[in-house]
Amino acid sequence: MLVTPPTIDLSNCDREQIQFASAILDHGALLTVTEPDLTVQQASVNTREMLGVPVEELLGGPLSRLLEEPQLQVLREHLRKNELAASPGFLLRAALGGADFDLFGHRRDGVLVLEFERRSEPTATGNQLSHELHDALTRLEATPNLPAFLDLAVTQIRELTGFDRVMAYKFLEDGSGEVMAESLLEGEGLTPYLGLHYPPSDIPAPARRLFSLTWLRHQPDISYTPVPITPVANPLTSAPLDMSYALLRSVSVMYSQYLKNMGTQASMVMTLMKDGRLWGLVACHHHRGPKHVPSEVRVAAELMVHMLSVLMSAKEHLGSYQYRMKLKAMESGLVANLLRENDFSAGLLHRTPTVLDFVESTGAALVVNGRLELVGRTPTEEQVRPLVHWLSGHMAEEVFATDSLAGYRPEAAAYSELASGLLAMRFTKSKDDYLLWFRAEQLQSVNWAGDPGKPVDISDDQQRLMPRTSFAIWKEMVRMKSKPWLDEEKAAAEDLRLAILELVLRKADELGALYQNLERSHAQLDAFAYVASHDLKEPLRGIANYAVMLTEDYGPRLDEEGRRRLATLSRLSQRMDDLLNSLLEYSRVGRVNFADADVDLNQVVAEALDTLRVRMEAQGTEVRVLGTLPRVRGDRSHLGEVMVNLISNAIKYNDKEKKWVEIGADSLSVYVRDNGIGISPEHSEQIFQIFRRLHGRDEFGGGAGAGLTITKKIIERHGGRIWLESTPGVATTFRFTLATRGAG
Ligand code: ADP
Repeated sequence: MLVTPPTIDLSNCDREQIQFASAILDHGALLTVTEPDLTVQQASVNTREMLGVPVEELLGGPLSRLLEEPQLQVLREHLRKNELAASPGFLLRAALGGADFDLFGHRRDGVLVLEFERRSEPTATGNQLSHELHDALTRLEATPNLPAFLDLAVTQIRELTGFDRVMAYKFLEDGSGEVMAESLLEGEGLTPYLGLHYPPSDIPAPARRLFSLTWLRHQPDISYTPVPITPVANPLTSAPLDMSYALLRSVSVMYSQYLKNMGTQASMVMTLMKDGRLWGLVACHHHRGPKHVPSEVRVAAELMVHMLSVLMSAKEHLGSYQYRMKLKAMESGLVANLLRENDFSAGLLHRTPTVLDFVESTGAALVVNGRLELVGRTPTEEQVRPLVHWLSGHMAEEVFATDSLAGYRPEAAAYSELASGLLAMRFTKSKDDYLLWFRAEQLQSVNWAGDPGKPVDISDDQQRLMPRTSFAIWKEMVRMKSKPWLDEEKAAAEDLRLAILELVLRKADELGALYQNLERSHAQLDAFAYVASHDLKEPLRGIANYAVMLTEDYGPRLDEEGRRRLATLSRLSQRMDDLLNSLLEYSRVGRVNFADADVDLNQVVAEALDTLRVRMEAQGTEVRVLGTLPRVRGDRSHLGEVMVNLISNAIKYNDKEKKWVEIGADSLSVYVRDNGIGISPEHSEQIFQIFRRLHGRDEFGGGAGAGLTITKKIIERHGGRIWLESTPGVATTFRFTLATRGAG
């Protein structure tokens, strides 16, 4: 983990070209030679101490000054057969200057780079190593998930290599890293780093690039003295040697310092790749002293991380698959609840699973028809409302996700602790109904293994090079940020949206069918009422006519009682005719087509008042129209009927000395108010039923009891609603609306 001191700009570090180190670690020597002549072009300055031949003697001369003919033959054979283009290949073992060396070679910048690494003997034989490797892989394959897999992997790598600490480190989407697994030597008081987070600057871009080029980097002694290469420029290219692949490449001073501050004396870093990209690292640290890992063991370890990379992809895919399955199951649960409950709030928030069980979240909000409901830990309603308003103007897609809401809306900083992350889902484009999930600030949920308050016992200028300081930098970086939303989660929100829409559409279909049934039976009823009233009128007219004839022709011959009965017959048939007329009118209102015209209610009321003027004057009622009435869309003559009915009732049902009627409109509705006898609340529904009267036919000059029924039907056919407010004995107000653009 690399950290730059405060004096150095982090972006400098991002540009630092560490592949042109022009120096090597001090446990080996490096030469570059040209092919096929094998003339030495560059050398590390330590060839005398290491290989027994001084640099001056090697430079410009043949390689045979160092290697004997049989060794050169082996070398030439390798060069003929192998490309040696990317990674250094093992060429041969040689005893030079009194020590054993492994010789590795690779081709770069037009030269052959030869690296002599001093050998250390492995404790295990090759046979034992391959058995250990086999066992390790068998057990790794059997682990159920990624965390268990990484736990076992670090344990096994520690057993294989003998390091004091082995960590699996994962790069997160924002470039920061997290220690996912750790195996630690016990009894030495080593601080665990498990769960620690690092800022991206800890492993700057050039280092990440180099890591992704080589599977393994080994530094047996952190306190090494870098050995320069001479000449610095490769005579063939006149540029410093590109050491990207060199085993012995010297490392950044800051990297070494950082490791030293962690108490590390030797390190080995291996690369975890996923789908061709750097996924993470396995970092091995030794604290008890320098440690050189024999090349055979390194090969085994490297093989192991190759296998880890392959297996890990599979484990991670499996993890993602399992999560997707869980999300699907939760989605089904939510939809089932909605089916059962018929209501968004009950189905999504108040039955398990709730929306909080769906995607990982700390709180949620549901907005339907302007009603807001909150569950879990959330900002307040006063904070969520403006957020919803903002979303309605900013959501291009139906699902929106951010792990840093304050980055979009500075106001959100006030509640970043509760909702740094937001996943928003709008049910449909045309309506502002939402489901929101909140995620708390990540810091609230981060696991710090050690004690962040513990004093750091190292000089001030080096504090930045401490893992704890790294953690502080990382903390600064993730302030007001939540854990990012996974693609799986965004996709799941979209899926849930579609499932809910489908459900709503299905319900609408069912309702539609129900409505059609209802319409049909209404129509049948209207048809029946029409036929019945129409057909009944015929014989009724006969009865009435005969009653008249009887009165005229035989009246004088009848006695008083007979004439009275005849009069009753006439009256009853007249009354029946009235009833039939009402019924006919009622069925007509149900069957005829209504116009959809622009209607000025002021004119409609004026005409109604003209019609009723005689009655008004007879009753001595003062009628006032307050303000201007709105223009509406509808059927002019039927709206006239409504006004006549309501106003005539208002005139009729009044026993006050000074009678008045007020007609007006407010934001809510159009109203007709009187200071009449009032209607007690228990009758406020009944009076709209056909032939329902609260008074004797002759009281208040009452009618057939169909006026309000017809009025209601006309209003409903305009998509409106009628209701009343009344204080018995004092006043009554009838109010109505006409569709949504209605009367307001
Ligand atoms: P009707 O033709 O008998 O007036 P309506 O259907 O118009 O029948 O009204 C039904 C009943 O509602 C009436 O009989 C009356 O008792 C009551 N009613 C209607 N309007 C008023 C009002 N403005 N004040 C008091 N009672 C009313």
